[in-house]
Amino acid sequence: MKIIQNFRNINNQIKILSSNVNLIVVSKGQDINNIKMILNEGHLDFGENRVQEAILKWSNILAINKNINLHLLGKLQSNKAKEAFNLFNYIHSLDNEKLAKIFSDLEKSSLKKIKYFIQVNIGNEIQKSGIDISLVSKFVQFCQIDLKLNILGLMCIPPANEPPDSYFKKLYELNISNGLKELSMGMSDDFTIAIKFGATYVRVGSAIFGRRSN
Ligand SMILES: *Cc1c(COP(=O)(O)O)cnc(C)c1O
Repeated sequence: MKIIQNFRNINNQIKILSSNVNLIVVSKGQDINNIKMILNEGHLDFGENRVQEAILKWSNILAINKNINLHLLGKLQSNKAKEAFNLFNYIHSLDNEKLAKIFSDLEKSSLKKIKYFIQVNIGNEIQKSGIDISLVSKFVQFCQIDLKLNILGLMCIPPANEPPDSYFKKLYELNISNGLKELSMGMSDDFTIAIKFGATYVRVGSAIFGRRSN
């Protein structure tokens, strides 16, 4: 099966480059049979972009497999934060105070803790979400000190149609200067480059499943 081959190849490529990288299989837009092929390989980390789609696809699977880690990668609206909190283990797209406060309140009234990445608008693009580079330190401290959130590190999506190297390097340096240990960067086209620049979580979809229609 092509999907399984792709998955194994990517896992091998990652292992050759580093022993310290977590592969997130991005299953947005995929039907459940494709996802099950990867689950049958024993893989436990999956990424989704939309809360509603993730609830529909994953609720039944999570009920029988408690070891799966779901990662929210896409933009999150505040009114979906509670549902996201209940479903996901990792949020990679934390990028504003309002959302951070909501999660902090949810954690206070729950035993659940989430692991967070702060999304940075590393290419300073108007249309991209993510926090401005100049505000990263302040926001990291606000989340860690005022809100007691478990911030693992920074996350970015570099500008399209440009070599990502300088953006990955910049995010790596920002991560270090903020005392953070994990780094979420690299997708199908550039995960090997991201690993060379210190990524510890790579998010790969189409290189495993083929092109998405949506
Ligand atoms: C869709 C998506 C990915 C996966 O992209 P591919 O190019 O299919 O590997 C990774 N990260 C984010 C934030 C995404 O939205």
